[in-house]
Amino acid sequence: MAKTTFLEKLITRIERLDHKHVENYLVQLAQEKGLLESIFNSMLEGIVVTNRAQKIIFINHAAQEFLDAKDIEMEGQDLTRYLESLELEELAALIKTDWGKLIHRDIQMIHPIPRILHLNVFPLVSSGNAYLGLVLILTDVTKRKEEELDQMRSEKLQTVSLMASCIAHEIGNPLNSIDIHLQLLERDVHKLPTSSSKNLLESLKIVKSEIRRLDHTVRSFLVTARPIRPNLQGSDIAKILEETLRFMKEELVLNKITLKKSFLEKIAKVSVDEFQMKQAFSNIIKNAIEAMPHGGILKVLLTQDDEKVKIIFEDNGEGIPKEILPKIFEPYFTTKTSGSGLGLMISYRIVKDHGGKIDVTSRFGKGTTVSILLPMGMKRKMKLLPEQGGKNNEL
Ligand code: ADP
Ligand code: MG
Repeated sequence: MAKTTFLEKLITRIERLDHKHVENYLVQLAQEKGLLESIFNSMLEGIVVTNRAQKIIFINHAAQEFLDAKDIEMEGQDLTRYLESLELEELAALIKTDWGKLIHRDIQMIHPIPRILHLNVFPLVSSGNAYLGLVLILTDVTKRKEEELDQMRSEKLQTVSLMASCIAHEIGNPLNSIDIHLQLLERDVHKLPTSSSKNLLESLKIVKSEIRRLDHTVRSFLVTARPIRPNLQGSDIAKILEETLRFMKEELVLNKITLKKSFLEKIAKVSVDEFQMKQAFSNIIKNAIEAMPHGGILKVLLTQDDEKVKIIFEDNGEGIPKEILPKIFEPYFTTKTSGSGLGLMISYRIVKDHGGKIDVTSRFGKGTTVSILLPMGMKRKMKLLPEQGGKNNEL
């Protein structure tokens, strides 16, 4: 038989209890509720409980932070309406129609902080199996997802690099040898009488030009796909950015794009390969231009904290639909008729080779933000962490 709870015992005895006892029990209950609340509030997972009418009856601190809400605002509110206001209409509809089912979904939050949350929804059922409401548990999985994505991108990059080395070897080398033999053939053909050499020379010319075209294609593929160790030098990032923007000025003007720069003064020097960094920046700027075919605003921001320099490119162009956002760094992924699908992959590889991080957030129809974080020099290899209190910290 099921164990009777404190509350059930209290209910069966309540008529027999005197005023003092009831008061004691109520104090005990209030304390237990307080204890439960503080346990829920100290959890890293967000917890939201609703009643049968899907009105929020409890929301812990973590969930308030995830959903950017205060409990005073949220308690008593309709959960599904609240989710709609967070542009999670699909989820709100799912909860409304499928409330009896378990729901496990990842949700991408853009506001207040871009992050990925994993959501579990359970029906809240009484011991008598009556439906009481819903319990939503939200877990921040941003870091795990980023690591998974990073791992996947690195693996893909490795495959492309391997392919590039293979192509260099298997196509590049025979091309060289064909070229040498063509030159030998040409020399011999020249020795023939003009009447017989004329047609042969014409054909040789065509073969040579086709070989040159093939050679060019292979070379340009190698330049983009083969990793090149960055030639790191203490550089002024603001200057590199300025030069890249100057180089692209014509294109910006032609496309009616207003440039808004905001560079923090006195940015520390960063160890970068100037040429590669310009390549990474210009790929990103090019994408921004292409995303604003009718003109727009491109903001370029440069800031730093004591460990890294941050460069942000923000456009108000067409944005990226969320289904394709995870694919944009993939080699050869493009949504453009004449795109190569290599620009972002190259920028990603360059930033990674510099020990940095590149992030893209976007809202379809609103615009896209690409941020690059670059570590600053070697000076801060070691950092003293703040004291943690307690005696047994020394490990
Ligand atoms: P490409 O520009 O040749 O298509 P990229 O690797 O540079 O290749 O970009 C991949 C895809 O990412 C683009 O086709 C586009 O769909 C998307 N993309 C990248 N940057 C932006 C941006 N700023 N705005 C909108 N979409 C973008
Ligand atoms: Mg591009």
